[in-house]
Amino acid sequence: MEPHGTMRLGELLANRKPSVSLEIFPPKTKEAEVRLEKVLPRLLQKRPTFINVTYGAGGSSKQQTLALVRKLTRITPIPIVPHISGISSSQKEVAEILEYYLEDDIENILAVRGDPPKNAQNAPTKGDFRHAIELVRFIKERATGLCLGVAGFPEGHPESVSRSEELRHLKAKIEAGAEFIVTQLFFDNRRFFEFLDALEAAGIRVPVIAGILIVTTQKQLSAIPGIAKGTKIPAPLNSALQKAVTPEQCLDAGVSWAAQQAEEILASKSPWVHLYTMNQAGPLERLMERLSIQRLDEIDIDRVF
Ligand code: FAD
Repeated sequence: MEPHGTMRLGELLANRKPSVSLEIFPPKTKEAEVRLEKVLPRLLQKRPTFINVTYGAGGSSKQQTLALVRKLTRITPIPIVPHISGISSSQKEVAEILEYYLEDDIENILAVRGDPPKNAQNAPTKGDFRHAIELVRFIKERATGLCLGVAGFPEGHPESVSRSEELRHLKAKIEAGAEFIVTQLFFDNRRFFEFLDALEAAGIRVPVIAGILIVTTQKQLSAIPGIAKGTKIPAPLNSALQKAVTPEQCLDAGVSWAAQQAEEILASKSPWVHLYTMNQAGPLERLMERLSIQRLDEIDIDRVF
């Protein structure tokens, strides 16, 4: 086996070479686990710059996240970026998770707040971290060498009072030591580029990695406003999916849209695309056929494993 690639994203992205990374989530059922087993080799074969593994809302999939991260570090040299969500975690739990990841030479973590369970929006959380900033500070104190990322919202976080207030909180996370931002998914690149301008004006100068989802069905597109609150669906994307009759046509419409988004971002001054794979390889493979590259690491050939 190749050695596990150790590379802090802050440094990896500093050369501003275009890069594509992937997000997967830990499977919750045996069937989903078997499916992911089959999908993983296909995702790894594309050589993404790094792979994120989400942390279930409310800590529901904590053990599965830890197990999947460990497994990945043992089968691939590609840097693995686990998420930790603070809202329902205790300090003790986070300290244990950090210890576990440091044993596996994890060098990057995405620190997010998480969302309260649906029926408990106003209830006090059982965790020790009310906002992501507290988690960033806690991790930085205990694992100074870790490179931390945080979440960003090109179309605004649904709870934010104002864009300026949101940017103030985001900047505080960067000042507390976060070195990169991964965005919520969006379908309109203009919103992303406006967000970049707003970050620059606010003095936030870390890499901002654009979260992109390849929509594969009309049903999935309709569910987006509920899942990624604030994300707007452009009318042409909606109508392309409405016109698509067969599953193949739907996939084609979603891939075309994502490919246009990705090509534009990869050619921009913020050339980092992060694909929400939904644990599927097919849409990514189809996307790659449309991009001007065949393997994701072709765009990052100097990377040292
Ligand atoms: P925060 O930074 O705490 O911000 C949440 C809201 O509070 C914002 O409106 C912000 O402006 C405001 N705020 C921030 N700090 C303060 C403060 N000090 N005082 C008052 N208001 C404040 N969820 C999971 O459960 N697991 C995951 O793995 C996961 N991965 C994600 C990955 C990405 C790329 C993204 C974009 C989201 C992810 N989420 C995940 C969802 C995320 O946890 C939610 O969107 C959450 O609502 C916001 O997280 P945050 O880290 O931005 O929180």
